[in-house]
Amino acid sequence: MENSLELLYEQMGISKEVYTIGESVIDGLTDRFAQIDRIAEYNQLKVIKAMQKNNVGAGHLSSSTGYGYDDSGRDTLEAVYADTFHTESALVRPSITCGTHALAVALSSQLRPGDELLSPVGKPYDTLEEVIGIRPSKGSLAEYGVTYRQVDLLSDGEFDYEEIKKSVNEKTKLVTIQRSKGYQTRKTLSVKRIGELISFIKNIKPDVICMVDNCYGEFVETIEPSDVGADLIVGSLIKNPGGGLAPIGGYIAGKEKYVENAAYRLTSPGLGREVGATLGVLPSFYQGFFLAPTVTASALKSAVFAARLYELLGFYVLPNGRESRHDIIQSVTFGSPEGVIAFCQGIQAAAPVDSSAYCEPWNMPGYDSKVIMAAGAFVSGSSIELSADGPIKPPYAVYFQGGLTWQHGKLGILMSLQKLKDTGICKL
Ligand SMILES: *Cc1c(COP(=O)(O)O)cnc(C)c1O
Repeated sequence: MENSLELLYEQMGISKEVYTIGESVIDGLTDRFAQIDRIAEYNQLKVIKAMQKNNVGAGHLSSSTGYGYDDSGRDTLEAVYADTFHTESALVRPSITCGTHALAVALSSQLRPGDELLSPVGKPYDTLEEVIGIRPSKGSLAEYGVTYRQVDLLSDGEFDYEEIKKSVNEKTKLVTIQRSKGYQTRKTLSVKRIGELISFIKNIKPDVICMVDNCYGEFVETIEPSDVGADLIVGSLIKNPGGGLAPIGGYIAGKEKYVENAAYRLTSPGLGREVGATLGVLPSFYQGFFLAPTVTASALKSAVFAARLYELLGFYVLPNGRESRHDIIQSVTFGSPEGVIAFCQGIQAAAPVDSSAYCEPWNMPGYDSKVIMAAGAFVSGSSIELSADGPIKPPYAVYFQGGLTWQHGKLGILMSLQKLKDTGICKL
């Protein structure tokens, strides 16, 4: 059995050396994997509990068309999200086109001219720069007279409490906290640390809205930012909570009044959440959310495996192979464009779809440098599926995420190492 497995890997292009080093790394991950499974078990129950509480029935799986009035499947799904994340309310819609859109709706629905937005955790995700207007952009918050302030993390990754205190002023209406590191080499914030930051800010100004960009963080821990004081959490359904099945979508969950504001912005003043047909997506939204805890666990196992493997080979990895995880993203710094490219080509070659596609760097809208992306996904651009991307700029780090199954994640990582070995970037 073991021998034939090794043979099958070989037939798929994984050499004996690469396979062997992979196995030795996995041998050391037993405890880590058990811990990940434990969290998945907790979150699986949390989702089922919310589905049962809301009496999800077969009738909820059929979708509306047209205006989408009285779409009970949609409304019930939103209640399931709200109960799972322990929020008063949630908006979960296919008309939210992606994570950036969800964040743009969440921000622009709360902020009015003259208000100020504060990021106390440094620069936000690249695409948010144009939403906010950090980089001039048509339709940005800046164009509508919303100002922006940012406090960077200290060099040791801690919050700069002193500067944050100075930056919260009478105009500060909303504080945006990004949980995941995005295209940066800072640490991802744990839910606990997010809670500490929110408490500090609410102490200075109790009525400020604390919003968390929860992209890539859902179900990684047993608690979410909404459990530690976040007024709004926002994310994409083609990441963790869609479980790989949602073909599009985003969510905004939190306090009722803020979610309601978001609904009026997403559709129209006066209409809000009453409209919005679901056009056949509900079965994949429900089933994807049901699968999300275990899919997230597979992605985490793949990430931990990559961390341990590349750390062993002498590359800088973040998080490292032993520290606790707060999102599914793994970065590996190669220090050269060739390293980033070889890694991504390995991930592409391991894909179930488009495995023979040749991936190369391109100018992607919303990003300020060339980016290479590897994805052989069932849902285009889905990054809960095994995928890797990296901006072609120093320090030449690749960001790897996903894997609907751990077995696929493993193949992808082994293939990436194979490409690095074949191109001579990495010696075994
Ligand atoms: C992915 C991501 C976004 C943007 O989501 P898109 O779906 O790519 O628009 C925003 N913030 C973070 C932290 C992300 O990881």
